[in-house]
Amino acid sequence: MTPTIPFGDLRSQYRAIKSDIDAAVLRVLDSTQFVLGDEVAAFEREFASYCHTSDSIAVNTGTSALQVALLAAGIGPGDEVITVPFTFVASVAAIEYTGARPVLVDIDPVSYTMDPAAIEAAITPRTRAIMPVHLFGQPADMDPILDIARRRGLVVVEDAAQAHGADYNGRRCGSMGDLAGFSFYPGKNLGAYGEGGGVTTSNAEFARKIRLLRSWGEETRYEHLVRGFNFRMDGIQGAILRVKLRHLDAWTAARQSRAARYRDVLAGSEAVLPAVRPGSTHVYHVFAVRLPNRDAWRAHLGEQGVQTGVHYPVPVHLQPAYADLGYGRGAFPVAEAVAGEVLSLPLYPELTDAQIDRVGDVMRAGLPRR
Ligand SMILES: *Cc1c(COP(=O)(O)O)cnc(C)c1O
Repeated sequence: MTPTIPFGDLRSQYRAIKSDIDAAVLRVLDSTQFVLGDEVAAFEREFASYCHTSDSIAVNTGTSALQVALLAAGIGPGDEVITVPFTFVASVAAIEYTGARPVLVDIDPVSYTMDPAAIEAAITPRTRAIMPVHLFGQPADMDPILDIARRRGLVVVEDAAQAHGADYNGRRCGSMGDLAGFSFYPGKNLGAYGEGGGVTTSNAEFARKIRLLRSWGEETRYEHLVRGFNFRMDGIQGAILRVKLRHLDAWTAARQSRAARYRDVLAGSEAVLPAVRPGSTHVYHVFAVRLPNRDAWRAHLGEQGVQTGVHYPVPVHLQPAYADLGYGRGAFPVAEAVAGEVLSLPLYPELTDAQIDRVGDVMRAGLPRR
């Protein structure tokens, strides 16, 4: 029996940086700065610099990051925010948490990100913001989106939860919109050892509002300037993220070289490979191929010891929980077709050449006749 190729492997990465991580955690324990504190403040400065923004604000999850980004821009009940159905549900949930209504538009069939040509038709007098998602680590097509937003006076909040370090025409994800939300969930390209999230912005007023919102509206203890939340980041997560940020570019380069090897070994297979938009970099949070008989492939690869994922099998508008958004089957044909065919192959910096070659061998051999 050939050994299983796991879909993810956080243990190998921890082992490679264990001494630095352990020292960082012990430093926080010794300081007793368990919530926010110096390590989180230092991480905020370092992450802002990494994202080419003047500020970043660390919070407890990526979902909260998107929520407070929207709130800081003044979005709330009665407003509409445009996003996509082919994303993790948190993009849509974060809009609803502000009291605003999510309005969905279809994706582009090549990049799987927001189709800029679909935006204008979705704009109403209530539209206040556009939230493109840099899905799988590929930047959304930001220039036309920013152009529509400028002409229509709309705010742009990037959902950059999957796109740490990805670039679009020389600009970095997190720096193109008015605000952006990142997730540091453990499996993300920059992951904490627990929950974490962050907002990036170069607008000092937005940054100040977000610092208030994430910690009960306080600038001075027990003086509540606005009604806020407990969305603070743990000190331990900040210290861990500082260590990991120093490795992020090397890990991204490793993901890109793993993706390049997949392109070689999958040539001649049935799989439609992920497209990279000219002028953009893809940081491969997910390496999703497209296969008409996806479910049969998933079962076959599983039997051959290759673990796979599906991101995402059901678009948000067809989820039972979001039926009351009011979109039926057929509302977003591209999202629906793509959701039925995408298959995520294992891809992480520690994946070996031999493992990739083995996936290629299985895929080039084709599905067995049953
Ligand atoms: C992970 C993710 C989120 C939410 O982040 P959490 O840290 O899990 O709250 C939002 N949007 C997208 C596209 C994501 O992948």
